[in-house]
Amino acid sequence: MKEVWVIGAGQLGRMMKYAGTPLGINVHPVNVDDPDLAAPSPGADAVITAERELWPQTPSAKALQAHANFRNKSVFGRTADRKTQKELIDSLGVATAKWLNVEADTDAAQCYEQLGETVLLKRRSGGYDGRGQLWLKQGDNDTLPDDWKNSAIAEEKCPFDEEVSLVGARTESGELVFYPLTLNLHVDGILMASISPLPRLGHLQAQAEGMLGAILEELDYVGVMAMECFRIGDRLIVNELAPRVHNSGHWTQAGASISQFEMHLRAITGLPLPKPIVRNTSVMINLIGIEYDEAWLSYADTQLHWYNKDVRPGRKVGHININDSSIEYLCRALDHLQSHLSDNYIEVLTWVRAELR
Ligand code: ATP
Ligand code: MG
Ligand code: MG
Repeated sequence: MKEVWVIGAGQLGRMMKYAGTPLGINVHPVNVDDPDLAAPSPGADAVITAERELWPQTPSAKALQAHANFRNKSVFGRTADRKTQKELIDSLGVATAKWLNVEADTDAAQCYEQLGETVLLKRRSGGYDGRGQLWLKQGDNDTLPDDWKNSAIAEEKCPFDEEVSLVGARTESGELVFYPLTLNLHVDGILMASISPLPRLGHLQAQAEGMLGAILEELDYVGVMAMECFRIGDRLIVNELAPRVHNSGHWTQAGASISQFEMHLRAITGLPLPKPIVRNTSVMINLIGIEYDEAWLSYADTQLHWYNKDVRPGRKVGHININDSSIEYLCRALDHLQSHLSDNYIEVLTWVRAELR
């Protein structure tokens, strides 16, 4: 039986474990945050991967990252730091938001001069769900707060039409497979909903695959990577990269013959990886800070993934995938769900319905 060990034991590792079982792959997510957890000792044939970009140097993390089969070992450090990630993207000539590194002597005037009158500071590492970001506006903020110096990049404000992402994988022999582009709705920096595929995004697919393909090649990457983009007219601009399975690829659990979790496992263990067949249209709704409701299980086209985490405001505690053969059925499922979700979802589901129609 193939053995895969995962650095991290959150929902992504958990879903990887589910995806591995039918393939005869034994997946072991490891809670590397626990300083008291004994170092695991995977066999020589085991493969090591990660569900996150950053982790503490605990005994378990050290043991896993020292294994000879830790895939993409050199990539994590490079993409976990926004500065080196941006340098990588720039070096390939792939479009990304204009940026500068915030150093000890960088001042606000320099940021506005180079990036425009509204600037977004982003911590170089550790940020997620829009945490670790600060908007600055010329006239309102004339100095850079000291605690952002030497630890952040500054980005121009992208006047985007919408946000899309591409999830794809590279195999050990260099083959590339991609899902169709996904349209994403973020509210206050948190992903709330995704839709894929959407025919109106089809003309951007080749552009997106060219961008992510170049990045995967350059890194000699093996496994799934996600590329978040802004769409401005017919142009895509990379927002950020995630060297792992990604929330915007969760719809593939319901909408593709091979989910992103299975795709990643196949790629890193050298199993065949044909291009997945994508069925119908899928919608993914993130469950953020909301209590479990059994009523979500009442609809046949609706698939619940509950992460078994404590519910806290703003925390991702699960997601719902909806896949059905007609837009009418999808919209009916959304109508059903709306009565079992909190009021802040009205705006989200309205967005989804408008996109589908
Ligand atoms: P994630 O949870 O996806 O890892 P994150 O905390 O790493 O998020 P980003 O993806 O960089 O943060 O930004 C979060 C959101 O903030 C984006 O999806 C987008 O809506 C908005 N945003 C980020 N950068 C810019 C920008 N340069 N201009 C305008 N909006 C931006
Ligand atoms: Mg991020
Ligand atoms: Mg992001």
